[in-house]
Amino acid sequence: MTVLTKPEVIDTIDELRSRLCLKRQNIASTGAEARVVLVPTMGALHDGHRALVRRAVALGEIVVVSIFVNPLQFGVNEDLDTYPRTLDADVTALAEEGATFVFAPTAREMYPDGASSTRVTAGAIGGLYEGAARPGHFDGMLTVVNKLFNIVEPDLAVFGQKDAQQVFLVERMIADLNLRVSLEVVPTVRETSGLALSSRNHNLDEPARAAARSLSAGLAAAASAALKGVPAAIVAAHAVIGAQTLVKLDYLVVVHPHTYLPVADDYRGPARMLVAAVVGSTRLIDNISLDIP
Ligand code: AMP
Repeated sequence: MTVLTKPEVIDTIDELRSRLCLKRQNIASTGAEARVVLVPTMGALHDGHRALVRRAVALGEIVVVSIFVNPLQFGVNEDLDTYPRTLDADVTALAEEGATFVFAPTAREMYPDGASSTRVTAGAIGGLYEGAARPGHFDGMLTVVNKLFNIVEPDLAVFGQKDAQQVFLVERMIADLNLRVSLEVVPTVRETSGLALSSRNHNLDEPARAAARSLSAGLAAAASAALKGVPAAIVAAHAVIGAQTLVKLDYLVVVHPHTYLPVADDYRGPARMLVAAVVGSTRLIDNISLDIP
């Protein structure tokens, strides 16, 4: 029987910093590399998160997984209070994946003066798509990611492609603010049905879950239709998703991978289709890369 080493669960910034410092020194004293890899999460871990942690373990010697449901990135009427919190199960999963530290601070630890007064702003793209539906969301996300980078000082940080606009904005923040961290992006992990894994899938009852599959099915139809151009890809996705009465589409857009602005109808080249919808009462997002010849 394999005995799993549980990661150390730490809830204060000072303690994490000193434990990290010691760990780095211990490894470095053996002459080995001591790369620190950060995986930021909000917990309620599923196989998508686990894929990120597996990648982190492959990339570095010290893996910090943060579990923090960041109040700054939730709007007043959003699901901050009901967001699933499953710390014990999360720690067990992280032991299986080989994480070194779990950083699970309270909101007071991260924001001792309440909502911190200094924020990172995501700029114009932060106001589009997810940002249009969730005002302030990306400022809150970038602020906490920047704080986590400063607390952990990772060599690498691992994010999921599932949150494509988030990846774009974190990449831009790293470049714009000259942060010393490299980004690693892991492909979206899906159920065999195609549905992208998400902590919010817990909230779907069976009819909503069946309807939610139309998002990934619509994206797959768009990827095939992209051979005929951007408008054909959009029509193909609408045909699949629009057939589901339980799905209230928020946006469906094809963006340029370097600017995240919508592409013109006659655009050719690499692109990404982004979709968001409320299914039953649960907001879901998904995306796929398109190659428009
Ligand atoms: P969250 O806990 O939802 O904030 O997500 C934490 C990280 O896990 C983010 O980088 C997400 O993009 C990533 N993630 C969430 N779901 C998936 C998935 N199905 N596949 C890959 N990465 C994911």
